Amino acid sequence: MLIAGGGPAGAAAAIVLARAGCRVLLVEREAAPREKVCGEFLGADAHACLMALGIDLAALGAVPMTEAHIARQKGRVDAVALTLPFTAWGLPRAILDGALLDAAAEAGATLVRGQAVRDASRGADGWCLRLANGKHLTAPRLVLATGKHALRGFPRAGAVDGWIGVKLHLWLRAPLHAVTLLPFGSGYAGLQPSTDGEANLCAALAPGLGAAGRNSEAFLAMVSAGSALGATILEGARPAAPRPLAVGGVPYGLLHRDGTGADPALWRVGDQFAVIPSFLGDGIAMALVGGMVAGAAILNGEPAQAFHSAWRRRLAAPMRMAAVAGFVLRRSPGFFAEIVANAPDVARFIIKRTRVAGPGRSDFMSLDRGRPDPR
Ligand SMILES: Cc1cc2nc3c(=O)[nH]c(=O)nc-3n(C[C@H](O)[C@H](O)[C@H](O)COP(=O)(O)OP(=O)(O)OC[C@H]3O[C@@H](n4cnc5c(N)ncnc54)[C@H](O)[C@@H]3O)c2cc1C
Repeated sequence: MLIAGGGPAGAAAAIVLARAGCRVLLVEREAAPREKVCGEFLGADAHACLMALGIDLAALGAVPMTEAHIARQKGRVDAVALTLPFTAWGLPRAILDGALLDAAAEAGATLVRGQAVRDASRGADGWCLRLANGKHLTAPRLVLATGKHALRGFPRAGAVDGWIGVKLHLWLRAPLHAVTLLPFGSGYAGLQPSTDGEANLCAALAPGLGAAGRNSEAFLAMVSAGSALGATILEGARPAAPRPLAVGGVPYGLLHRDGTGADPALWRVGDQFAVIPSFLGDGIAMALVGGMVAGAAILNGEPAQAFHSAWRRRLAAPMRMAAVAGFVLRRSPGFFAEIVANAPDVARFIIKRTRVAGPGRSDFMSLDRGRPDPR
C-alpha cells in the first residue's frame, strides 16, 4: 500500500492499515513536522478519532475550550458568547501532525520523509510513485493524501482556487480562553488559545487580499479594522514569528466525484477529497475520519469508487451547511452574530450539522488487529 502525503488523512489511513498488518509505505515531502496554515481548532470528532488512533490531546499540551465568541457589528466592543456543544481543543499542527506520523511508524508503517512525490502512474503491477530523488515505489494500491493542492496529473474537477489562508502566532496582552470569530472586509479570522501562552490568529482571505497576508502588521491591521472586538483583543499583540504563514489557491467547496473509468485502486482522502470552509467545519476531523474509513474499506476489499461515493454522500450535508454559514458570515457578520445571540440552540444545531458525523462503530472496525493482510 502506498500513501502519498503524511498529514492527518494519510497518517490516519496508515495507522489503521499498518495496525491490521498491512504493508504501508507513506511518503511525506517534509523531513520534519512543521507548522501549517490552520486555525488549529479540534472538535469532538477529531478528538474521538485521535483517541482511537492512540493520541492523547491533553498529554500533547492541547488547550481545551468550551466557548465560542463572535464579534458583533462594527462599533460594538462586546461579543456574542456561545457554549460549544462539545469541548474543543487547540494544538499547533507541527505537534499534531508529528504525533500522528510517530503513531503510524509505531503501528508498523514505513515512513519516507523529506521526499516529495513528483508523479504517480498506473502500470501493470499497480501504482508507481516517482520521488524527487528519482526513486520509484510500487504497490497495488495508492492513497492520495497530499492535501488541498492537486498532485501533478491529478486535477480535481470543481476545484475553484482563489482563497488565501494566513496564520500568525501571537502573544496577546490578555489571555484568551475562547475560540473567537472575527469577520472583516470580505473574509473572516479565527483567534484561539494555543500552547505556551500564545494565541493563533488564522484567516481565510478572499482572492485579491493576499498582500495583507505577507506582513504581520498589515495582517493584524486588516483583522483589527473589521470589528471593535478584534481591535480590542489585538491591540498591542506581538507576533511570535517574523511574518505570517500563507497558502494560496485554497479550493473551498471542493467535493470529489469520480468520473467514468475511475481507478478502483486509487483512493482520495482528506483535502484531496473535500475542502470545507475553514472555521465553519472541521477539515482535520474530516481528514481523520476519512482516512480511517478508507483504511477500513481497503481492509474489507472494497473498490475505491464505493468508498468515494459513500464518503461523498456523508459529507454533502456538512459541506452545504458550512457554505451557507460562511456566506452569511462574510456578507452579514452582524446578522450572523445576532442569530448566535438570539437563537443559541439554532447556532449549536448549525455547529453540529457542519461536523462530519463520526466516527461511528463501523469506522473503528478496522482498528481490530488481526484482520486480513491486503497490500
Ligand atoms: C485557513 C485555514 C484554516 C483552517 N483551520 C482549520 C481548523 O481550525 N480546524 C480544522 O479542523 N481544519 C482547519 N483547516 C483545514 C485543515 O487544515 C485541513 O482540512 C487538513 O489539514 C487536511 O488534512 P490532509 O491530511 O488532507 O492534508 P494536509 O494536512 O495538507 O496534509 C497533506 C500532507 O501531504 C504532504 N504533501 C503534499 N504534497 C506532497 C507531495 N507531492 N509528496 C509528498 N508529500 C506531499 C504535505 O507536506 C502534508 O504534510 C483549515 C484550513 C485552512 C486553509
